[in-house]
Amino acid sequence: MEKSKLMKYAQLLVKSGGNVQPGQVVVIGCGVEHAEFGRMVQDCAYDAGASEVVMDWSDDYSARAKYLRADSKIFDEFPQWKVDWYKHYDDRGAVYLRINGSDPDLLAGVDPDRLRRFAKVAGVATRPHSAIMMSNTCRWSVLAIPTPAWAKKVFPDVTEAEAIEKLWDAILKGARADGADPIADWEAHKGNFAERVNYLNGKAFDALRITTGLGTDLTIGLAKNHVWVGGGDIGKEDGVPFFPNLPTEEIFTMPDRMRANGRVVASMPLSHQGNLIEGFEMTFKDGLVVDYKADKNQETLSNILSMDEGAKRLGEVALVADSSPISRMGILFYNTLFDENASSHLALGKAYPNNMQGGDDMETDALVAAGGNDSLVHVDFMFGTPDMKVVGIAADGSETVFFENGEFIK
Ligand code: ZN
Ligand code: ZN
Repeated sequence: MEKSKLMKYAQLLVKSGGNVQPGQVVVIGCGVEHAEFGRMVQDCAYDAGASEVVMDWSDDYSARAKYLRADSKIFDEFPQWKVDWYKHYDDRGAVYLRINGSDPDLLAGVDPDRLRRFAKVAGVATRPHSAIMMSNTCRWSVLAIPTPAWAKKVFPDVTEAEAIEKLWDAILKGARADGADPIADWEAHKGNFAERVNYLNGKAFDALRITTGLGTDLTIGLAKNHVWVGGGDIGKEDGVPFFPNLPTEEIFTMPDRMRANGRVVASMPLSHQGNLIEGFEMTFKDGLVVDYKADKNQETLSNILSMDEGAKRLGEVALVADSSPISRMGILFYNTLFDENASSHLALGKAYPNNMQGGDDMETDALVAAGGNDSLVHVDFMFGTPDMKVVGIAADGSETVFFENGEFIK
């Protein structure tokens, strides 16, 4: 990939993604395999006036080695210094940028119990940091770049070099970062969300009934005073706009944690912690998953659901038009950042507080009492299809079809 295109992509993360302001601390989460691009992002952040740019390096090879070879007892403890490390930067209002992109099979063959145990202790220990991110108290943004193993997984029939080039093209196209001025393109993209978000917020539906040809037939109660959000967020502390995800094609809101009923059939595999869950479905009763099965890696799905009570309930319902550029490419990315923007999806686990009026200022107990879900996890999975239909059900029982054959029709 040409350096000029990479530079524009790095600038997009700093300017549109995190919207770094002069004098701010910037923390960049980056794998060592992405070091070259990570340093470009670092330079862009300093150019934007960052007071300090902190690199939070990680290494996929070492992560796999640890899960395979470390002593079993280390998976039940999370280092206190890392908790303090997050707090240090949270207290300073840091902007968190993350460069994602890993082998989808990175943790294949690892003992799922080790993954589950460590995810749990890490989730508990980093709960204050997660809350700061999810309430937009700190601004944050994530994008992805290829690794050789990821590229070969997506494009198995070409050479590694060709696969990497193809994945770069698909990523930049999907992230609307392939034009002459990606930052301007993102401003225009943002404007397109407003109309739909306003329509749905005006309707304030009580519930959605979603059906697909794959067999999904699910009625999802929406939390009272829910808010549809799409096309970026606003920093809670300083009102500075930002885009948490590059790409983003979804508009999403908060389900009532007690009111999902019916069956949902996934339309794409779910890559979770280096394992691919395939051919899965779940049945909900009164908001709770009461039955589920998967053709492949069912144990990974069990691990997610058994994390806590909230992991068996819904924290997000998101609608994506079938005409989104990522959906149109018809590529399975094996990466949630891209795949969730190709297809309508649900998330098991924690709800975003800003999907409820005044939610950013509510304590967790109050959010839960109002119908918002709480959990250590937030896992998105895709169920949207080109034939998906959504009916909005008002409090008086009247019905409005606003999404049909995979597209918004209102
Ligand atoms: Zn989403
Ligand atoms: Zn989500």
